[in-house]
Amino acid sequence: RAKEQGRNHYQLYTHVIGMSVFEHAFMENSLRKALHHAEFRLFYQPQVELNSGQIIGMEALVRWQHPELGLLEPGKFIPQAEEYGLIVPLGEWVLRQACSQNKAWQDMGLLPIGMSVNFSVRQFQSPDFVETIAQVLEETGLDPKYLELEITESVVMKDEATAIALLQKLYKMGIQISIDDFGMGYSSFSHLKQFPVRKIKIDISFIRDINISSDDAAITTAIIAMAHSLKLKAIAEGVETMEQLNFLQSLKCDAIQGYLFSKPLPADEVTKMLVEKRALR
Ligand code: C2E
Ligand code: MG
Ligand code: MG
Ligand code: MG
Repeated sequence: RAKEQGRNHYQLYTHVIGMSVFEHAFMENSLRKALHHAEFRLFYQPQVELNSGQIIGMEALVRWQHPELGLLEPGKFIPQAEEYGLIVPLGEWVLRQACSQNKAWQDMGLLPIGMSVNFSVRQFQSPDFVETIAQVLEETGLDPKYLELEITESVVMKDEATAIALLQKLYKMGIQISIDDFGMGYSSFSHLKQFPVRKIKIDISFIRDINISSDDAAITTAIIAMAHSLKLKAIAEGVETMEQLNFLQSLKCDAIQGYLFSKPLPADEVTKMLVEKRALR
């Protein structure tokens, strides 16, 4: 019975379009309550440098520990949070949590690593965007150079002049910026050089069949070559097999992120992983 009900509720989260007024109100209310009741959790996925084999950073990925539906992945609630404007307070919570976790790892004596945080267009457009980031960095005591903002091409393309000005401001604060899901948007590659971006994350959709699709292999090869000629780092998302890893290594891809090394994990498990890796040094 509970399971059946769970499945019905689940439906509400999967169809934004076609939801009734009641369902919209229900969803908005549940998200608000979830923020209020601290039901969100951050998981962390390591980013590994291919040259050194070292963990160079973590990506913070939000989950919703729903009291009835269990652990929900961001695809089930981020689009809704964006639609209802709740992505701004949720994003601020994510940022604060991620920064303070990274600071905690450093305070434990672990070698500092980067902390990548995803940002939606809606957050980027919020008037307090830069101020909020500055405030969170100050509060948590994290050195800005360890914070990396992951934005998609859509952020950059909407209003280019404003976007560049904003990115420059962040860059001057010492924050790193990377382009997420690269290759999925419509950006003209030539514009890239105007952005103070450090890293390009090659979208998982190109990596998935990299060993069997000559098109995907060609696109990935081109993205890495372009990144390097612009003096940017390239990181591959969603690396699951040794075959993918070997191919990316042959292309001189700088880093990988994916299940091959680790799935996104809760903070305590990541802490254990970091402590073990550090002991190996
Ligand atoms: P993303 O930023 O591109 O994150 C990478 C996604 O790929 C994550 O999904 C991650 O779990 C998944 N992934 C990593 N390695 C592998 C792999 O080897 N194989 C496969 N199949 N998948 C892999 P996740 O955690 O479900 O997040 C989905 C998206 O939700 C993220 O894509 C990001 O766009 C968004 N998101 C997550 N957390 C936040 C957040 O705090 N704020 C905002 N605005 N968006 C977020
Ligand atoms: Mg990301
Ligand atoms: Mg991505
Ligand atoms: Mg994505």
